[in-house]
Amino acid sequence: MFKGIVASSGIAIGNALVFTKKPEEILKHKKTILSVDDEIKKFKTALEKTKIDIMNLRERIIYDIGSKEADIFVAYLQLLNDSGFSGKAEQIIKDQKVNIEFALGQVLEDYLDFFNKISDTYLKERSRDISGLIDRIIKNISDTHSIEQKEVSGKFILFADDLTPTDTVELDKTKVLGFITEKGTQTSHTAIVARALEIPALVGVRDIISNVKTGDLVILDGERGFAIVNPTPKVLNTYKEEQKKYNFKSKLLKKMKRLASKTLDNRIIELYANIEFAEEVSNVLENNASGIGLFRTEFIYINRANLPTEEEQFNIYKTVVQKMGKKPVVIRTLDIGGDKYLPYFKIPPEQNPFLGLRAIRLSLVNINILKNQIRAILRVSSFGNVRIMFPMITVVEEFLEAKKIVEEVRAELKIKKVNFDENIKIGAMIEVPSIVLLSEELAKHADFFSIGTNDLIQYTLAVDRGNEAVAKLYDNLNPAVLKLIKMAVENAHKNDLKISICGEMASDPVAAYLLVGLGVDELSMNSAAILNVKNLIRKIKFQDAIEAAENALKMKNSNEIRTYLKEKLSKREVLL
Ligand code: PEP
Ligand code: MG
Repeated sequence: MFKGIVASSGIAIGNALVFTKKPEEILKHKKTILSVDDEIKKFKTALEKTKIDIMNLRERIIYDIGSKEADIFVAYLQLLNDSGFSGKAEQIIKDQKVNIEFALGQVLEDYLDFFNKISDTYLKERSRDISGLIDRIIKNISDTHSIEQKEVSGKFILFADDLTPTDTVELDKTKVLGFITEKGTQTSHTAIVARALEIPALVGVRDIISNVKTGDLVILDGERGFAIVNPTPKVLNTYKEEQKKYNFKSKLLKKMKRLASKTLDNRIIELYANIEFAEEVSNVLENNASGIGLFRTEFIYINRANLPTEEEQFNIYKTVVQKMGKKPVVIRTLDIGGDKYLPYFKIPPEQNPFLGLRAIRLSLVNINILKNQIRAILRVSSFGNVRIMFPMITVVEEFLEAKKIVEEVRAELKIKKVNFDENIKIGAMIEVPSIVLLSEELAKHADFFSIGTNDLIQYTLAVDRGNEAVAKLYDNLNPAVLKLIKMAVENAHKNDLKISICGEMASDPVAAYLLVGLGVDELSMNSAAILNVKNLIRKIKFQDAIEAAENALKMKNSNEIRTYLKEKLSKREVLL
């Protein structure tokens, strides 16, 4: 199962067609170039991207296996930094006025000649490393694909590192069931074409290409953002059913776009969107969300070689905020640690990363990183309706400390006469049981609460949210979780604070019904889920939801609760 960004929603099931041009072919393809400088620039960019790839891989191996096992990546980096290697390729480009791919092919041949003359098997093995590295550089140079559609008969799900406009034009679109790419964003060409053709698509699915072969059976879940390679028959059958329902449902839901998110007895439940990338704003607007309830900013920090500057962040936030107009944008500060790490930022190895230096904890011991981010957020607050939110607050003092940093940055900006929203709202994420228990006190200091149920469930039930082996225990309707949500809602309301849910639970209509009944004011979810939840809201009565939640809280376990809620909703034909 691979996670990606939904570029175009829908469910596709079919055989994979993995679109890669064989590296040997590319390396032998000689082209005369017009500008040596441009070609060298292209080479250098690809080289830098490859270094980042290698650094990321190295960090991941250190994290997953150990630092000794990652030593080989240091050797790779040395080779990439070695002017003998890159200098040779550049010299060939200059002397022969040829394309980089061909130049790299020549460099590789020289290395292979050299390694062939030696008998040491260890050193011989190194020639494979060089060949692999050159493949990686090639992958980082765009425009090197050519699609061989003959390999699969009938329709297929197309897999590619990335797709160029030329590639997409070449495709027989009547045969493409879906697109899955390793690179790309929601505004990349693949995504735009996929949306225009209403073909489900996922982009930014890391490491998928090396894990799928042409002909493999694949499920593309463009609702939740997953690709499943070679599913079990049971999973396959479930998805076939889902696909049928999806197609029927999407027709009905389109009609919901301009309608209010209001219950039959006139309770408004604002529906917000969660985003990870600025490019997702188009989907947020497309689904007519009331705002952005969670901007996971860590994706701005991931997959690069160094920390983003204040200016870089400011520009990204500004794009989002301006496009959202008057609608609120809740920017969450960096939530790194746990399962998200930065290749260039060293956290000492931890036995339990989810319980370690994560989220606000990390920010509070790296004040300059936090200040930079806060400065960028405050500066952008004068362009729209911006809010700040701190992740993984565990004790009240942590929130106060984070607020103090905001105060300091505000004072600095005032001295410099930089504009910002003086009344900017500062909220806390409720993701740890301790802070639920302390939420009465926290509410006195916060402007709003947002419950991150993904983590709240993990920390309440002591179940790693990413571990398949314990996935059964990860249960969003567990009465313990529901009791905590209720307590947080009550403490928020006692202090006139609004409280939202921004975990995945909000996008599940059965759970959303319960959350509305528990008194949650707003729900924030991936854009693709908004209309489905709006459909639920428009068909229920708030008073019934309150009653259902009261009854659910008296039940012994989640099975009982789920059955009860589903039955209640099915009577009204609320669930599509
Ligand atoms: C959550 O924990 O529910 C949440 C929204 O934050 P994230 O999924 O980014 O940890
Ligand atoms: Mg979280």
